[in-house]
Amino acid sequence: MRVFLKLNHLHDQMANKLREKDLMMCRSCGNEERASEGYPCADCGTFVCIICNFRGVTLCKSCRAKRPEPPMTPGPAKIDWPEH
Ligand SMILES: [Zn+2]
Ligand SMILES: [Zn+2]
Repeated sequence: MRVFLKLNHLHDQMANKLREKDLMMCRSCGNEERASEGYPCADCGTFVCIICNFRGVTLCKSCRAKRPEPPMTPGPAKIDWPEH
């Protein structure tokens, strides 16, 4: 029983360590940021950090490469956007 408790305690410590290291690499800027504070890429769901989201980036690098047009196009010309 004592051995079991000891193992259980060790497991708890490992779980805590994993929880502390909650960093993920942002697929947009490449920084390691806290996974719990980031957002998923709007397209593929991969991790994009909160800093990129503040900048208006909702897509990861590879998804941005797939759609080269910038997210914010200046000018009032696109009110009647046709559906794809
Ligand atoms: Zn980022
Ligand atoms: Zn993506």
